[in-house]
Amino acid sequence: MSSTCEDCGSKVYRGHCTWCHEETYIAEQSWGNDEPTSFSAEFRHKLAEQEMEAKEILERQKVYE
Ligand SMILES: [Zn+2]
Repeated sequence: MSSTCEDCGSKVYRGHCTWCHEETYIAEQSWGNDEPTSFSAEFRHKLAEQEMEAKEILERQKVYE
């Protein structure tokens, strides 16, 4: 079962849009590396926002199921 972003129509994976939540994907890829990457405050702020948006999307998906 797949869903698409309401804003851009991109694929949504576990509540995260691959386009609108780009920072989340960058962070996940960085965390997979051996060297931990230090993120700027602005970057971490975006991550937190996207985490909240992802939760809202997942909540909406539960309603539809
Ligand atoms: Zn999107």
